[in-house]
Amino acid sequence: MYRTHNCGELRIDAVNKEILLSGWVQKIRNLGGMTFIDLRDRYGITQLVIDQNSKPELSEQARKLGREFVIKVKGTVAERSNKNKELTTGEIEIVVSNIEILSKSEVPPFTIEDETDGGEELRMKYRYLDLRRKPLQKGLMLRHLMAQLVRRFLSDKGFLEIETPFLIRSTPEGARDFVVPSRMSAGKFYALPQSPQVFKQLLMISGYDKYFQLTKCFRDEDFRSDRQPEFTQIDCEMSFIEREDILTTFEGLAKYLFKEVKNIDFKDNFPRITYDNAMEKYGNDRPDIRFEMLINNVTEIVKGKDFKVFDDAEYIGALCVKGQSEFTRKQLDELTEFVKRPQIGAMGMVYAKYNTDGTIKSSVDKFYNQDELMKWAQATGAQAGDLILVLSGAKSKTLAALSELRHEMGNRLGLRDNKVFAPLWVIDFPLFEKDEETGQLHAMHHPFTAPKIGEEHLLDTKPENIKANAYDLVINGSEIGGGSIRIHDTEMQQKMFKALGFTDEEAENQFGFLMSAFKYGAPPHGGIAFGFDRWTAMFNGSDSIRDVMAFPKNNAGKDIMIDAPAEIDNKQLKDLFLSVNK
Ligand code: ASP
Repeated sequence: MYRTHNCGELRIDAVNKEILLSGWVQKIRNLGGMTFIDLRDRYGITQLVIDQNSKPELSEQARKLGREFVIKVKGTVAERSNKNKELTTGEIEIVVSNIEILSKSEVPPFTIEDETDGGEELRMKYRYLDLRRKPLQKGLMLRHLMAQLVRRFLSDKGFLEIETPFLIRSTPEGARDFVVPSRMSAGKFYALPQSPQVFKQLLMISGYDKYFQLTKCFRDEDFRSDRQPEFTQIDCEMSFIEREDILTTFEGLAKYLFKEVKNIDFKDNFPRITYDNAMEKYGNDRPDIRFEMLINNVTEIVKGKDFKVFDDAEYIGALCVKGQSEFTRKQLDELTEFVKRPQIGAMGMVYAKYNTDGTIKSSVDKFYNQDELMKWAQATGAQAGDLILVLSGAKSKTLAALSELRHEMGNRLGLRDNKVFAPLWVIDFPLFEKDEETGQLHAMHHPFTAPKIGEEHLLDTKPENIKANAYDLVINGSEIGGGSIRIHDTEMQQKMFKALGFTDEEAENQFGFLMSAFKYGAPPHGGIAFGFDRWTAMFNGSDSIRDVMAFPKNNAGKDIMIDAPAEIDNKQLKDLFLSVNK
């Protein structure tokens, strides 16, 4: 027997009990004739104590232990004179009578503490050691809890968890596929699913009207921050439903998770905002509504005063920053530098301070008098004491830059507290986006997304104007989930493929199985998928999804612990009918 209790379990009521504990040596301290050992497992830390005077041999043995040794100890629970409120077991200690070394350890390459001295690379290389640390344990435990809650909620609502295959052919989420060569079919490849999209639609056709799955998705994308080539979705689909049913059901799931995990009650419905409105008011399609500071279109108001920058601009937008008219010159210069960064790409920034004495001081006083500046204030809702920040240029680029500036101001003013949560639905996305260079339309969500009800007829004539029956769940400026009502008839699906530039053959070749399934009675259906890693990370207060994944890849898509991806030997290549051209 290795243990009667775990290292986070014993309390004052266990005093005088004989116990066995097993775990890792976190720390050894020798104080006078006493040796103290912190013994750790994933449940907590328990203090062991050995007195040199009464047990000289045991004390000698204890002093030779090293950090991260795995030991089994026998002892008696005693009340601590020097209690430690930080530890759940801090009122007791174990007076040790026997120590058995189960496994020795080399000196670990970094300290296994909440705040470690190990850099990112080192910790990734020794991920199994990093995972011993409390912050990571906390992330994985939260992940487990979230998974259980999701399963409980959806099962109670009659959803079935059904697995779908990983070795499939290309799916249409718009990223590159990871492919797996087939040994049995020479020269052929499986693709790993970018999502179970087509399978969940086929399950609807098979009559499994409420499906969900916590599943891995694989997307071979260039690395942007907080992306992983394999990640987990809570993937869901329902039949005989309309958009409202989906939004209600999954708003229910979100509220349940908020309540169970964060103890936050959302009594009211989540706000809904259209894509167009989100773009106009927040400059992006995943608005952070923890704070106001909306974008105001001031194009018409500010033009025509001989300020060339504005007169030449397609679009001019302004933020009103409440109560910040005292922003210093230095701070404003910093903001100007911020928006001029290449990733943001603004040419410059104009400001106007609406001083508490009622005057307005702007960086373009040469062109605008007080009356004119007062119009800026009216258009942006600015009052005495507020600061107005203005960017101009091409519309979509300027809105994107205003969005960044808004976030930067939100950060600076502490308006983006990660303990505050502001969920909302973004609806009515465009069905297509246009490739600027080729003019070709691409599905903004994916090719199975239905047009918004009543706009179907535009598919033949003005496809670029159609809105989609699609929706995203956004929390704190992060897209947590997205989905759509699907097309469920062959004719409409064919039109969609056509608009996307597929020839009949290409469509048949890639999605023939789905088109033919539609011929055998397809129910109206729709669904949604949530980024499980991201949602968990957000609830964990983490900036990175890596904090809630046991074995993530690094920024270059590599697992440096197991050294993957790796070369394979010639025999394997031959079996797979492959040769490598580097
Ligand atoms: N398959 C979609 C995605 O991964 C989600 C959905 O439409 O349900 O984004």
